[in-house]
Amino acid sequence: MEHFYFDNAATTPVSPTVVQAMTDVLSHDFGNASSTHFFGRRAHDLLDQSRQTIAQSINAASIDEVIFTSGGTESDNTAILSTAAAYGQQGHHIITTAIEHPAVLKTMARLEQQGFEVTYLPVDGLGYVTVDQVAAALRPDTILVSIMMGNNEIGTIEPIKAIGAMLADKPVIFHTDAVQAYGVLSIDVQELGVDFLSVSGHKLHGPKGVGFLYAKTGVKLVPFMNGGEQEHKRRAGTENLPGIVGMAQAVRDLAGANKAKRRDQLLALKQAVLAELDQAGVTYHINGPDLQASLPHVLNLWFPGVPTNLALTSLDLRGFAVSGGSACTAGSLQPSHVLTALYGANAAEISESLRLSFGSENTLAQARALGQALVAVVTDYLQ
Ligand code: PMP
Repeated sequence: MEHFYFDNAATTPVSPTVVQAMTDVLSHDFGNASSTHFFGRRAHDLLDQSRQTIAQSINAASIDEVIFTSGGTESDNTAILSTAAAYGQQGHHIITTAIEHPAVLKTMARLEQQGFEVTYLPVDGLGYVTVDQVAAALRPDTILVSIMMGNNEIGTIEPIKAIGAMLADKPVIFHTDAVQAYGVLSIDVQELGVDFLSVSGHKLHGPKGVGFLYAKTGVKLVPFMNGGEQEHKRRAGTENLPGIVGMAQAVRDLAGANKAKRRDQLLALKQAVLAELDQAGVTYHINGPDLQASLPHVLNLWFPGVPTNLALTSLDLRGFAVSGGSACTAGSLQPSHVLTALYGANAAEISESLRLSFGSENTLAQARALGQALVAVVTDYLQ
């Protein structure tokens, strides 16, 4: 049986260019970037080249503003925990939203246990927060605002630039989790007005276990891991050189791709799935903003009366990999905190929705086949 992958928001297939770049490093460049000899210098050069590529991709003012991490989770943790440690004297209040990734929400919960007060802004029925909500929540003791750029479950794109502009003259650190947004939206950290921005390699057709944190020059950073002086003393531990070079190659590939065309291709895949559902008269509802407004690779659908678990298994048996609920919780079967924030704890959507997420490897024929499989699963169950 053929298997088709529609779970690109969870992770993406590694592209052949990335495999090649990583293979080259694994085969020839084993040096430790902290060594001063030839092998170390070679590793150091590769790190710098990767840092340069990545800094350029987000319009960072300096390549030293890019810190390599083990992924989106570490980037989020570093931005938040570091700000709490470095600016805790100034105040103990933090603002975030109810629909952040667990890497943010669980870090916030930990800080609450340490005496910080966290405001979780509610979102509207499509997952949006507004600049006015953030402004109204600010207090003299607010030290950090952390709001994601694009939501991993429903694809809502938050008004980061407007929030950044509103915060520009305030003594508040602004972090955004751009793990889902980076691969599909153009990102300019100076235009966005962010102090920290988190990205993960494996959502970009790059390798797993590597990511980066943009940290604006001048923003204090207190590492939470102890060890060597890598990354200008901001992240201890020998860098994952093959992973970093692989991620930089993925970034290069993205930079070379035509973003508008890629967006249209992803949009066409979503439309192809929905066309099959419409043609068959299947009842569904889109969770989150409509196709044009959401992250181009994410489509979250509610099928009234069809349990998520059952649909996931039936689709898997037919060769289609999608996800449900809180996509980042093991097994994907925990109630979604995002859908809960949208509709309330007792809403049917929470246990009857599926997340389909698309990638450049998906074809229109595959998307149509997914749509047909969904029609079969839903009609079989509701009969
Ligand atoms: N933030 C968001 C929005 C994500 O979607 C993910 C990955 N599911 C992460 C953070 C965590 O990234 P990583 O898997 O690289 O730790």
